[in-house]
Amino acid sequence: MQNEYRSGSCLCGELLFILKGEMKWCSNCHCTRCQKGHGSGYVTWIGYEKNQITIHDKSENLKWYSSSKNSEFGFCLGCGSSIFYKSKKVPSEIHITLANLDNSKDIFPSSDNYFDTHVSWVKIDKTLSKFNDPNL
Ligand SMILES: [Zn+2]
Ligand SMILES: [Zn+2]
Repeated sequence: MQNEYRSGSCLCGELLFILKGEMKWCSNCHCTRCQKGHGSGYVTWIGYEKNQITIHDKSENLKWYSSSKNSEFGFCLGCGSSIFYKSKKVPSEIHITLANLDNSKDIFPSSDNYFDTHVSWVKIDKTLSKFNDPNL
């Protein structure tokens, strides 16, 4: 899978990114920061090594917001899409919202993280592994 190549963008298209090589993981995050930050019951994230991503940001739209003392959300100043996450606990990784890939139909999450704060109104896939704090 070394030749795997994926692209994605924010809503307005000013932030573009290319991912090269194999994805490390894909998980749903039910933490309250993802809920508030994305206006969503949960967010599906994919994990890559930072050296696998190339971000094209010609208008300097990428802004980082500190969502906790260890972590930051990366979002587009033009359209507000929140599409990146990084944490000091996993310094080599960047996390990307699955929905911002141009083509994500072959990727599926394997777990529900921060499941203790999941909302009651989202249907849960019982087959996925459940974790409360995965320490990210
Ligand atoms: Zn944008
Ligand atoms: Zn989260």
